[in-house]
Amino acid sequence: MDILRTKKEIRAWRSAATGRVALVPTMGSFHEGHLSLMRTARALADHVVVSLFVNPIQFGPTEDLSRYPRDLEHDEALASDLGVDVLFVPTVEEMYPQPQETYAYWPSLGSVLCGRTRPDHFRGVGTVVIKLFNLTSPHVVPFGRKDGQQVLLIERLVRELDLDIEIVACPTVRDVDGLAMSSRNGYLSPADRVQAVGIYAGLSAAKVLIENGERRSAAIRNEMSTLMGKYPGLGVEYCDVVSRDSLKPVDALDHRSMLAVAARVGTTRLIDNLWVVGTEGDLRVEL
Ligand code: AMP
Repeated sequence: MDILRTKKEIRAWRSAATGRVALVPTMGSFHEGHLSLMRTARALADHVVVSLFVNPIQFGPTEDLSRYPRDLEHDEALASDLGVDVLFVPTVEEMYPQPQETYAYWPSLGSVLCGRTRPDHFRGVGTVVIKLFNLTSPHVVPFGRKDGQQVLLIERLVRELDLDIEIVACPTVRDVDGLAMSSRNGYLSPADRVQAVGIYAGLSAAKVLIENGERRSAAIRNEMSTLMGKYPGLGVEYCDVVSRDSLKPVDALDHRSMLAVAARVGTTRLIDNLWVVGTEGDLRVEL
């Protein structure tokens, strides 16, 4: 596996590469969620590039940029074992040699759900993702459904800016207790962790309800709130049934719905979601 650190190096590598290229954008501190995206990338392309960059412009001034976990040695070993061809690890100065004035952003879709409490988050994500797309010219890019709003916004960006890139939304990888894997789970104490599982308990209860035929969003939201209310350490920020197209709340579920949750446990902010898929007559729930 090559470890490349500059734009010049990654561009030179890309212009020499033939066949299909997959890019997996990450902020590192790899867990099974990241590894599953790398496996998908491996299956879909001849070359796999993984970018590892803790992107400062997607963190708010009071967020966890400085304490965000970093472990390059561990990440290098995992990526190399998985057959990744290139690990692209630029510095902040390499990516942003001058203060950024140009952004990709979504004025309305980026200001709902997570955008309500993280106003500049998605424009930071959109900007770095466009930069990484331009540096690596990928054919295919897997993203995790765990960050549901993110992958939906990127799909929209690709469509609306006519980028010839296939975005693949991949299933959420969970720990044995159901908690969605996240680099931020490392912030949780054992007691926090017990509370954090309440998010999964809420989503699981919603799944049962939907599988039993419930379609009314209010009833589903109620059930989730009741379940999550049993975990006093869980500070729910939002718990909504939304459309994956408009990201707006819907009254009744359909095959384009997403149940989206953000909650705080202590100082750690966690997100999770559930996608309703299938066809009108045969709705299925992916958790
Ligand atoms: P991050 O390093 O947190 O920015 O995540 C990099 C990529 O991994 C994003 O596409 C995430 O959605 C994806 N990802 C993070 N956690 C998971 C998970 N538990 N399951 C699947 N994908 C994930």
